[in-house]
Amino acid sequence: MERANVIIVGGGVVGCAIAAALAPRLSDVFLLEALPRVGLLTSTRNSGVIHAGLYYPPGSLKARGCVEGNRLTYQFCAAYGVPHKKTGKFIVATSPEEEEQLDSLLQRGRENGVEGLEQMTGATLRQQEPHVAGRLALHVASSGLVESESLVKTYAAVAAAHGAYIATDARLEAAEPGPDYVRIRAGQAGELETRVLVNAAGLFADEVAALFGNRRYKIYPCRGEYWEAAASKAHLVNGLVYPAPDPTGLSLGVHLTKTLWGTLLLGPNARYLEDKNDYETNRESRESFCARVQRLLPQLQPDDLRPGYSGIRAKLTPPGQYGGADFVVTRDPTYPQVIHLIGIDSPGLTAAPALARQVAQLVKESLA
Ligand SMILES: Cc1cc2nc3c(=O)[nH]c(=O)nc-3n(C[C@H](O)[C@H](O)[C@H](O)COP(=O)(O)OP(=O)(O)OC[C@H]3O[C@@H](n4cnc5c(N)ncnc54)[C@H](O)[C@@H]3O)c2cc1C
Repeated sequence: MERANVIIVGGGVVGCAIAAALAPRLSDVFLLEALPRVGLLTSTRNSGVIHAGLYYPPGSLKARGCVEGNRLTYQFCAAYGVPHKKTGKFIVATSPEEEEQLDSLLQRGRENGVEGLEQMTGATLRQQEPHVAGRLALHVASSGLVESESLVKTYAAVAAAHGAYIATDARLEAAEPGPDYVRIRAGQAGELETRVLVNAAGLFADEVAALFGNRRYKIYPCRGEYWEAAASKAHLVNGLVYPAPDPTGLSLGVHLTKTLWGTLLLGPNARYLEDKNDYETNRESRESFCARVQRLLPQLQPDDLRPGYSGIRAKLTPPGQYGGADFVVTRDPTYPQVIHLIGIDSPGLTAAPALARQVAQLVKESLA
């Protein structure tokens, strides 16, 4: 039976970034992905925004991971030729209440160490985004866009170039922790033993934790649906425009994105689901979705919308509950050689390299 130093379960952006961080320093790093390719789920079904880090409570893992991850993601993309652009973004207030929210966001961003924040009037906003409605805007210079599929594949390629073994069609099905090794069975990868196991299974991380008898976490799938504007309307937006965030903490709100390839992407909304694999049924109607977009872009009409893709957030906050939960990165209480990453919703794409550093430190301590 093959023996690993580390097995990472899950080939999304988080698992691949962890593999890329570990492989240069460690032999026998395995990454197991249930599906035929890495990055087929949430990591490539998102907005592709490199977030700056101003939304999250100071000191939280999300705040720290996002601010550090922002810097590391730009560095990684530049070093390995991953398509990306530091576009900056506007967060726009359309009511007096939202103006107050922008004040709080500015304050929070500064506390989190986000640089390049600037408030501007609606008139100044319209010099750059002439079609966007709004009374006040917060400009965030360090936000940007990344081609997420390329990002995930490049993390995986860097890991493989340093000797990591990446197995696809390798769903972790069973685990049996022993004193020195965890024995596992994983699809086509068969049976393996490992000194450390990292659970980076995204939406299914609670189920992987349960294989170790750990049932303290439950992931609530929350779908985000996108629409695309007709090509003839893509000129209505030049960059990245967000509303004031949903005060419930459910999402950052339906935003407008001029993509790296020149289309105008709208979304995502946020809707809790029963089924973690349900990307399509009961989508929000065109009219209802368009009404959200019109708050920022009054010119856009329902007929201008084309259905787009969707992605599913791995939320630890149940439906109806106020506030967003923080990322969880923790050793299993019963089996400390097992490290879980749970509830890695937004800004997980951005924070992945920072989470990878944190996990690399835990792995190092385990193997010492
Ligand atoms: C609509 C939406 C918009 C978002 N926008 C942004 C954004 O703009 N910026 C940002 O920073 N973040 C954003 N996010 C968040 C970001 O996409 C996620 O935080 C990130 O992709 C999570 O990555 P992951 O590797 O944890 O999960 P995933 O990408 O889901 O990867 C987990 C992998 O584990 C595999 N797996 C599951 N179970 C097993 C098993 N038993 N054995 C083996 N493999 C298994 C899965 O097949 C999957 O490939 C968004 C999320 C959504 C849904």
